[in-house]
Parts: sequence; structure tokens; C-alpha cells
Amino acid sequence: RAKDSGRNTFRFYESGMDLAVATRNLLEIDMRESIRSGGFALHYQPIFGLADGAPSGFEALLRWEHPVHGPVSPGDFIPLAEETGLITQLGAWALHEACREAATWPGDLRVAVNVSAVQFRKTGLEQSVLRALAFSGLPAGRLELEITESVLMQDSDAVIGCLHRLRTMGVRIALDDFGTGYSSLSYLCRFPFDKIKIDRSFIRGIDEPEAAAVVRAVVGLGERLGMAITAEGVETPEQLARVRRKGCTEAQGFLLGRPLPAPEAKALVAGQAAA
Ligand code: C2E
Ligand code: MG
Ligand code: MG
Ligand code: MG
Repeated sequence: RAKDSGRNTFRFYESGMDLAVATRNLLEIDMRESIRSGGFALHYQPIFGLADGAPSGFEALLRWEHPVHGPVSPGDFIPLAEETGLITQLGAWALHEACREAATWPGDLRVAVNVSAVQFRKTGLEQSVLRALAFSGLPAGRLELEITESVLMQDSDAVIGCLHRLRTMGVRIALDDFGTGYSSLSYLCRFPFDKIKIDRSFIRGIDEPEAAAVVRAVVGLGERLGMAITAEGVETPEQLARVRRKGCTEAQGFLLGRPLPAPEAKALVAGQAAA
């Protein structure tokens, strides 16, 4: 009996696994179809300079409207796109779309595009960037790529070489979600980032001495190393006052602006330009 129930338990577990795999496969098929049929969109979240209070640009964030399930969060579909390799296609599309959109913005507003570690592993990211810039006519200096420490953890000379070449072209490189990975500080020596984005977990906790100390230390590093510092996830006026006082150069978060569909983002900066 015990053996039977053990077997049943195992079977149940096994069929649970099958279900997960089946769901995953279906989502992969849907994702492929959505890439083809325009089911993905980019929303744009404003990033504000703290010196003048004006937007310096927007971060492009992928949105997926699943035909049946409705909106799927990037936290769910990005890992799947990375596992299946679809991120290469999706990422190339995002680069093109973001550059095309940013080329219509006034002034020298920048667009920041998130790039996955997987896109560096496969060759072709540089080509993608070059093509997106050429196709859109966007000056390289108005494109910023946001990478996480996982990109540098691949630790290959090829990755560092690629980042250097992109930067030589004038593309800016930002280190995203700073403070959440491993041995963060060593990465700052390995590559001359243009910007560090402090992860929102530190901004959320900024009224506690520990998180406040981290923010202050990162700002100090940024000043020494000539890197801009963006505070991510600013949700309250108190947090905004604190990150400004601590010397962050930019802020981003729901308090200042949520990610917006392209036309609304454009309207926001058109209004600013007129004012
Ligand atoms: P991320 O690059 O760190 O982007 C910031 C995330 O924080 C976004 O979530 C944004 O909506 C959210 N956020 C901004 N301000 C606030 C705030 O004040 N409070 C809170 N609670 N959240 C805030 P989202 O759009 O869900 O994206 C999640 C992650 O998915 C991104 O984190 C990025 O790692 C990834 N992602 C999104 N779009 C792309 C893409 O085009 N390519 C790649 N490779 N990854 C992407
Ligand atoms: Mg980002
Ligand atoms: Mg981030
Ligand atoms: Mg993040």
C-alpha cells in the first residue's frame, strides 16, 4: 500500500511536470506568433534629471498582450524568451522600435533599452544595434543600453569587447538593478559604465540606515568614476527628496511617471518642449 501510494504520488508529480512543460511550450508558440503579428509593444517610462527636473529620456519596457490571457508581465515572459532563445528576435525588434520612436522625440532625449545576457551570448547584438541606428537615423548618443551584472558574469573578453565597441560608437551603457547581484563592485572596475541604476529595493528602504548608506556609497562611487546615478522605483515625495539630497543625478519611478504607450510619452515631452 505504501508502495502504491508512493507510486501514485510520483505519477502525480510527473504529470504536474508535464503540465508545466506543456504550458511553457504553448506560451512559446504564442510568443512566436505575437512577435510575427504585432502582439508586443513598448511602453516608455520617463527618467528625470534631478538638477533641472526635466525628463532626460525614457526607458523602453516590453509589454505583451496575450490574445487569450491578456497582459503577461515581463517578469514572466522575459525568462521564457531567454530560455527559448526568442529573446534574440524580440530584443532586436525592441531595439528597432525604440530607436524609431526616439528619433521622433524633440531635443536630445535618450531612449534606454534593456538587453538580456542571452543577446550577448549569441553574436549579432552589435549588428542589431547598428541596424537599428541606421534604420531610424537616431544618433548613437541618444541610445542607452541597460545591462545587468549577469551580462558581465559571463566574464568573456568577447562581451567586454562588444561593450567597448558599442561605447566607441557613442552608445551609452548603463548598469541596471545595481546592488542585487554578486560582487557588484568588481564589475565597476571591469567596464566604464556611463550610468549606474540603483535597484529599487534600496530606494524602498531608503529611510533605513542600511539602504541609505548603500545609496550614499554608490553615489560616491559614481562621482569618483564619472558615472551618472539613477534612483529606480521612486514612489513617494520623501524618497524623491532623499535621493536628491544624497546626490543621485536622475530619478525614475511611479511618483514621477508610469510607463506610457508611445503616443502618451510623446505628448508628455511635446508638452514639456512647448512649456
Ligand atoms: P527593469 O529594467 O529594472 O525595469 C524597471 C521595472 O520597474 C519595470 O517593470 C517598471 O515598470 C518598474 N517600475 C518603475 N518604476 C517603479 C516604481 O516606482 N515602483 C515599482 N514597484 N516598479 C516600478 P516591468 O516593465 O515589469 O519590467 C520588469 C523587468 O523586465 C525589467 O526590469 C527588465 O529587466 C525586464 N524587461 C522589460 N522590458 C525588457 C526588454 O525589452 N528586454 C529585456 N531583455 N528585458 C526587459
Ligand atoms: Mg532597465
Ligand atoms: Mg532596473
Ligand atoms: Mg529590474
